[in-house]
Amino acid sequence: MSLYENEISKRRTFAIISHPDAGKTTLTEKFLLYGGAINQAGSVKGRKTAKHAVSDWMEIEKQRGISVTSSVLQFHYEGYCINILDTPGHQDFSEDTYRTLMAADSAVMVIDASKGVEAQTIKLFKVCVMRHIPIFTFINKLDREANDPFDLMDEIERVLGIKTCPINWPIGCGKNFKGVYDRNTNKITTFVAADAGMHEIESHELDVEGAEDQVGIIGYQKLLEDIELLDGACEEFDQDKVSNGEISPVFFGSALTNFGVETFLEHFLKMTTSPLPRHSSIGEISPFDDNFSAFVFKIQANMNKAHRDRIAFMRICSGKFEAGMEVNHVQGGRKIRLTQPQQMMASERTIVEEAYAGDIIGVFDPGIFSIGDTICSPKMGNMAFDGIPTFAPEHFARVRQMDTMKRKQFIKGISQIALEGAIQIFQEFNTGMEEIIVGVVGVLQFDVLKFRLENEYNVEIRLDPLPYEYIRWIEDWENVDVARINGTSDMKKIKDLKDRPLLLFANSWSPQMVLERNPGLKLSEFGTEH
Ligand code: GDP
Repeated sequence: MSLYENEISKRRTFAIISHPDAGKTTLTEKFLLYGGAINQAGSVKGRKTAKHAVSDWMEIEKQRGISVTSSVLQFHYEGYCINILDTPGHQDFSEDTYRTLMAADSAVMVIDASKGVEAQTIKLFKVCVMRHIPIFTFINKLDREANDPFDLMDEIERVLGIKTCPINWPIGCGKNFKGVYDRNTNKITTFVAADAGMHEIESHELDVEGAEDQVGIIGYQKLLEDIELLDGACEEFDQDKVSNGEISPVFFGSALTNFGVETFLEHFLKMTTSPLPRHSSIGEISPFDDNFSAFVFKIQANMNKAHRDRIAFMRICSGKFEAGMEVNHVQGGRKIRLTQPQQMMASERTIVEEAYAGDIIGVFDPGIFSIGDTICSPKMGNMAFDGIPTFAPEHFARVRQMDTMKRKQFIKGISQIALEGAIQIFQEFNTGMEEIIVGVVGVLQFDVLKFRLENEYNVEIRLDPLPYEYIRWIEDWENVDVARINGTSDMKKIKDLKDRPLLLFANSWSPQMVLERNPGLKLSEFGTEH
């Protein structure tokens, strides 16, 4: 029995993934309302980055300090302690967005009912699948015209390759949206639009008198037909399969009008998981292990010139954190004291005195941490959690240094920024470091790079965009004769700083063609660990 059993088992740490505008912020805000963490709609909205030109970025970053890009919102609801991890989107979309998923125990996928599965959702979904974490689907905006729910299910299964199990089912949509039918309780809940929506909503059993009047004859008939189809066609609910990420429970609702949000939250909290064990060099570490352990999944550099400090975000994997505690920084090879940790409570940043497995803390970083580092109680020795993979950049540019006399600063600066995980750097396959190619997940990172090199290292650069969008790591590369790979005309061979070869492509179909042309070759969309 763990010393911290009660605290840890009530924790639920998850990320919300979606394509921009699907309703992630609105849904988060409604969750916070239920948790009483905020009492006014719009509080989360204020945190959100306004749509902005890239050139405005610095000013915005200054204004928002670390708060917008910060990592987690914590609140309490019905005895649970909930940590929602923010997955930055829009222009903030970067490798950090992917890394955040490494800290989550499950994911909520928000889909716009009129748009279906969109590009950013697909990318984030792949990371969840890689980790085999439970994935829950909230199909949003039913108060607007929506795609047919069967088509939406089909699309999720086809495009994402995950089986679906609807927990409730919509009756109409848009102007004709009448409500949802709960497949478990057999009840119909009528759609009532509300902003905060903390009121009771009328519900009826499907086959009692009045149910037909409740949703109208057309809606009722259609529902009966749908139910028949559903019972035959879709997966049965199976908690084990949900836990392994093989089936996604699906919910329909409308975040804006707060319809279906509370039902979703309640079901979700029961079906999702308390903090999961994590794999390490000494085997699985249970969250209930009494010793403290954590890993760094994100490093946030301070953009303010006067404060060059950074914040390292850590996911606590076991035990309890106490302010000022002494820990092993495994990769750094020394003992350190974790002072001044911070945590996001709803919309404010606060100093935390204690935190438990499942929680995220932000720790002041004088420049010692790297992505993937392990921090643990000295009693755990030098065990290390599995590293974090590098994720595929989608934008590439050749870096030209304006003043060649400053070569040393340039290499130092760009290597440091790469180490923090903001960018990835590569070299030409044949010529090496004379030419540096930089790859980023989101284009904003190009501006971050340029700005930081100028301001912190006094080095001016020019970035010449390259036409590549797809990168593949070569599996078992030591045994592959890369020079002899039979490529496509849009393919470019490069290598990383450790001389590992990679392939870049301009067209999405080219990696497949290369696989066909080179029997035995194996390519991966995720890189080796940090
Ligand atoms: P995010 O980019 O995924 O965080 O999306 P937001 O939460 O900012 O929502 C994008 C837009 O969709 C906003 O204008 C919201 O008001 C709107 N929206 C969100 N949920 C709903 C919904 O259930 N119904 C309707 N009609 N609009 C919604």
